[in-house]
Amino acid sequence: MVSKHIFRVSAFLLGITLQATGITAFDIVDSVTTAGYSNHLAHLYTHIGESRGFTDGPSPRVPAYQHDLARDYMVSNFTAWGYDTWLDPFEFDVNFSYDDDSNTYHYAGCNNVVATKWGNGGTNTYLLIAHYDSVDSGHRNLTIGPGADDGASGVAALLEIAEAIKDYTFKDTIVFLACDAEEKDYQGSIYFRDNHITDNPVETNSTAFLKSSILAVVNLDSIAYDHTNTPYNVVMGRVSGFSQAAFAVGASIEKYTDLNVVASSGYNSSDHISFYNIGLDAIHVIEYDFVNYWNATNFVKNPYYHTDYDAIDSPDYLNLDYAADVTRGVAGAVCDYAIPIFPATLNQSISNNTFSISWLTSPDIEYEVYGTDNLTSNAWNLVSRIDATNDVVDQTIQFNLNTATATMFRVLSR
Ligand SMILES: [Zn+2]
Repeated sequence: MVSKHIFRVSAFLLGITLQATGITAFDIVDSVTTAGYSNHLAHLYTHIGESRGFTDGPSPRVPAYQHDLARDYMVSNFTAWGYDTWLDPFEFDVNFSYDDDSNTYHYAGCNNVVATKWGNGGTNTYLLIAHYDSVDSGHRNLTIGPGADDGASGVAALLEIAEAIKDYTFKDTIVFLACDAEEKDYQGSIYFRDNHITDNPVETNSTAFLKSSILAVVNLDSIAYDHTNTPYNVVMGRVSGFSQAAFAVGASIEKYTDLNVVASSGYNSSDHISFYNIGLDAIHVIEYDFVNYWNATNFVKNPYYHTDYDAIDSPDYLNLDYAADVTRGVAGAVCDYAIPIFPATLNQSISNNTFSISWLTSPDIEYEVYGTDNLTSNAWNLVSRIDATNDVVDQTIQFNLNTATATMFRVLSR
């Protein structure tokens, strides 16, 4: 009797056939590699002589050098990986307090890059942000400014994380935001904040996110310089006060890597400040050995901050294993909080003419078990539906082999 039955048990997730294997968050984290990270960083035009800055003459000042090529590299990758990807164009006027004149300049042709992985069943939104523009001669004492650490190191992390999670469905929504014009007084993040975040639920759409749904804004800016023999590797930078995000991301980095994490406040000089200023929990993940924040007693400052030598090919400068490790930790945080819905690992057994399928459910996911006795006809009949629960449940479905009409089963999650 039993030998006549061919049990084909597999998990299907959103129409994609997936074999029943034991995938965990660690598998996602492990797919973040130094090689993958470095490849993205190199493709963001981060070599000596390259730049993602703007023209420095009269208004309008527009994107120059490889600025738009870097933008297009992000767009083509996010799109190919299946993200809901769009450009967020803007322009602005600014009068820098730290350039050599008192003129107001008009900047045009700017674009934030936004890539969303929409959640499935969850109501929370997490923003991972970085800035892709680099400092330029328009307002700093340098020639071209490759900005490999500041801020391409964070953009490479966004890309590597997006690539690592591209094939998985998550419970909550994850937004990758590559800001333009951070070096222009945070104009890109200010524009996104003012035009794409709303308090009103009826105003939300694919380019307008509900403010109350945004639980954390995690800004990765300058995460690739790590001098040895300093007490910490990476800072969870708060602006001030308590931050659940700083606590949570720090805990994930320590869970998935060997990096030493320290939390500190007073970190108010990058794009997260735009979101902090409207009351969101926004933090700055940054190398410990950054130039601006510590007294020079127990560490060596990043030597090339805002110089022409902040480049991927400057000798003895960036530590890409370290940067990839920070990226792994943040990828782990994405898994810990946005919650991937893995295909269920199905166990099957037969005893006393009873066939059992069992698996651990994911929270807030509904399962349907289908059976068929003719795989080629593709006529699957619903045999059991398991409602979503708040918790992980050890679920078991049993069939009496003397009466069951189906000989093959599959489980769908939704
Ligand atoms: Zn900068």
